[in-house]
Amino acid sequence: MRISIHKGEIIMSHTIKDLVTAYGNKVIDDRRYLHAHPELSFQETDTAHWIRKRLAAAGIPVLDGISGNSTVGYLIGSQPGPSIGLRADIDALGLTEESDFPFKSTKPGVMHACGHDAHTAVLMGVAEILAAHKDLIKGTVYFIFQQGEEFLPGGACTLVEEGIADKVDAFFAIHVDAERPFGSVDVLEGTRSAAIATFEITVTGKGGHGSTPHTANNPLLPASDLVDAISMIPAMKCGPLDNATVSVTYLHSGTHGVANVIPETAVLGGAVRVLDTQLRSFVTAEIKRLGETIPAAYACSSEVTIVNGYPAVVNAPACVAVMQESAREIGLEVAHIDPRLGGEDFAYYGMKKPAAIAWFGMADATGKHAPTPHHNPKFRIDDETGLPAALEYMLTVYTKACEAFAAH
Ligand SMILES: [Zn+2]
Ligand SMILES: [Zn+2]
Repeated sequence: MRISIHKGEIIMSHTIKDLVTAYGNKVIDDRRYLHAHPELSFQETDTAHWIRKRLAAAGIPVLDGISGNSTVGYLIGSQPGPSIGLRADIDALGLTEESDFPFKSTKPGVMHACGHDAHTAVLMGVAEILAAHKDLIKGTVYFIFQQGEEFLPGGACTLVEEGIADKVDAFFAIHVDAERPFGSVDVLEGTRSAAIATFEITVTGKGGHGSTPHTANNPLLPASDLVDAISMIPAMKCGPLDNATVSVTYLHSGTHGVANVIPETAVLGGAVRVLDTQLRSFVTAEIKRLGETIPAAYACSSEVTIVNGYPAVVNAPACVAVMQESAREIGLEVAHIDPRLGGEDFAYYGMKKPAAIAWFGMADATGKHAPTPHHNPKFRIDDETGLPAALEYMLTVYTKACEAFAAH
């Protein structure tokens, strides 16, 4: 606590660290409660109920017109300022936890294995602390508890369709990082995750006897040409400095061991990962073109299905500056690591307004437990050290964002 004397009045102002200390273990307890009660994407009804009850108890109103299990709480400060959106995803994954935590998932086949339980608990902490200390709020702060990050089409695009980006000037989020120890934050400018798409091509020829290929039309010929042609897209069709990964990952046709039957169909598919959402449009258009023209050259028909995953997350410089400065202020380092090729639907907010997401190191720093990958049945984070720090971090980010976006 800081005590200052202004015009004879004693003014007590709390530092963010004091507020987090006073909040105690609640953020850890909340994360562990949520961890024990995971719910799959778009099925987070109990989690949404828990969030809404807690917001109501803290006197935080929620926005109308938000569908599904997403909830947006908001608080308006007494001083003018920008509208800042803080986002947490709330969903878990379809796998069975293999750990001996006392707060292990109580639901076989469902587990918080990406840390979204931690994101939810931290955002609840931020909301409850700000509700009790409205002097820290300038303008409006939105607490965005978002459903369905792990599953297409993702909960973020619905929130954007429902107008959240019209209300908010800048978005911020953290994602725990179970693979890097506590102490650093990965928040750099520009593209930080891949734009993803999957494709599948069904080639239909004409089945027949292996002894009379001229009366049949073997779909394996165009299908195998397609494996080559699609794999060559990054080398021959993209610029030499572009980052594109195109992998054909399956090709099925015929029956194993049945040598005298020319199959009727062949199905192949795979995935595209690029660091530029526009490049994804080009690559998928090229796959479609090849998928239609190569079978046609063999007098086969084809059906091409492209499914776009999330766009690339592009961290805005103004938001990154806030997040880097906040990290340094509370004694965390800014890590310099390459973008990740996983997907993250936070990308949708950044397509509308300045946004940044920071990966917050939360692996065990003592080295007692080896880091686990995300989406792993043994996923673990050092919540005792990591969560109070993440709470302090997000509160710091919020107060700095109020200054950085004050002109709005
Ligand atoms: Zn995940
Ligand atoms: Zn995640």
